[in-house]
Amino acid sequence: MEGQTQTFDWDVVIIGAGPVGGHTANLLAQRGQRVLLIEEHNEIGRPFQCAGLVTPNAMKQVGLYDTILEEIDGALIHGPSGTLVPVGTGGTIRTYVVCRKLFDEAVVKQSMISGATLWLNSKPTDAVVNQDYVSLRINKNGKDIELTTKLLIGCDGAHSWTRRYFKMGRPKELMIGFQTEVVGYQFRKRWLEMYSGSEIAPGFFAWVIPSGNDSCRIGLWSTAERLDGKSIEECYHNLLNHPLWKERFADIKETARYCGPVPSGMVRKAYKNRVLLIGDAAGMAKPTTGGGIGPGFEQINGIVDKLSVAIMENKLSEENLKSIARTHFEKMRKDQSRARSLRNLLVSDCEDTELDRHFEQFARPEVISLINEVGDIEKPVPLGMALLRRVPAFRKLALKAGMKLIFS
Ligand SMILES: Cc1cc2nc3c(=O)[nH]c(=O)nc-3n(C[C@H](O)[C@H](O)[C@H](O)COP(=O)(O)OP(=O)(O)OC[C@H]3O[C@@H](n4cnc5c(N)ncnc54)[C@H](O)[C@@H]3O)c2cc1C
Repeated sequence: MEGQTQTFDWDVVIIGAGPVGGHTANLLAQRGQRVLLIEEHNEIGRPFQCAGLVTPNAMKQVGLYDTILEEIDGALIHGPSGTLVPVGTGGTIRTYVVCRKLFDEAVVKQSMISGATLWLNSKPTDAVVNQDYVSLRINKNGKDIELTTKLLIGCDGAHSWTRRYFKMGRPKELMIGFQTEVVGYQFRKRWLEMYSGSEIAPGFFAWVIPSGNDSCRIGLWSTAERLDGKSIEECYHNLLNHPLWKERFADIKETARYCGPVPSGMVRKAYKNRVLLIGDAAGMAKPTTGGGIGPGFEQINGIVDKLSVAIMENKLSEENLKSIARTHFEKMRKDQSRARSLRNLLVSDCEDTELDRHFEQFARPEVISLINEVGDIEKPVPLGMALLRRVPAFRKLALKAGMKLIFS
């Protein structure tokens, strides 16, 4: 019976030992829960599909400053025809670049120090939700193991098995990200660069991010609809051969390349009876930057205290989980949705000519001051709203924005 004392193998089983699974395991183990973390690979942090940007706020929560490769003070943002918008202030850290392998390993290690158990080379093959518990079949090193848990949490990334198995919907958008690691790019120390234009990253942007010593990560992201038949590699080559910027890329030497999905737009219901989705599995990446580590941390942080009490009392029905998670999740979904609307309005739904006009406005000294004053990589909506309200040239977009934001 719900609420009665019974014993199960685990209080919580978390599928996926990425950064969000690791952090979720840590927070729950710190609160006394018996946590099992399941990872399908035989090591943590591989394959690597990330630019490695971690915001100061997300970093503060895990304190893994020794995984930082570079500190970043700002971004040099290029419009389709070359208008430059420098955002940030030298000496004021806006974000960090980490080694994702070290970062993921360290987050998972924190959970183990707090008491969580990690199984590598393991993945779920079956799950049945009962009245008081979930029974799971886990394939570990090729052998099936049956076990029981009070709660199952899917932190298993963009293509989440948990989400698909329990038919929990789909993230609103699925972006495709492509990235290379290179040496030989002449970058400005402590600054990242962003490039835009329909031939390079339709609706989105490309980036060059210093990643320690002489190396940089060059990447871009877009959606299948916006690519409209073009391959993402083609866009990458368009960036490297762009008449305005090709000199900068002339001497680069590629050392690695990866491609991966970025799910953004929280699934309709990230909880069901005894099942919860956190992180990329729930579609938490930001629509404006693609960053998913910070939002995944925020998603679990906002509910972990109440969740832990509910686990202790074994009160984990859909209704219970809804009362714990709904307000926090709905707020995050709404923020994502508003950020997406503003992104579409100011960047993604614009032809290059219109985007160039927007960049001419962004590049005005008073607008750069406004961006520096209000801009926050974690909270893009206030900046978008300030641009619409305070930059005369954007006022005609404000009415359109008002409608979109009301209905988003
Ligand atoms: C090109 C690119 C650049 C990016 N840059 C950034 C960035 O700079 N900053 C940022 O914050 N985000 C970035 N992201 C997004 C970021 O990588 C994700 O949001 C983040 O990794 C999400 O963490 P997660 O723990 O939810 O999922 P993941 O990191 O995907 O971890 C999921 C884990 O679950 C495991 N798993 C999956 N299925 C199973 C299964 N069935 N059984 C067992 N284990 C399973 C996987 O092996 C993996 O270890 C980028 C993404 C891409 C594609």
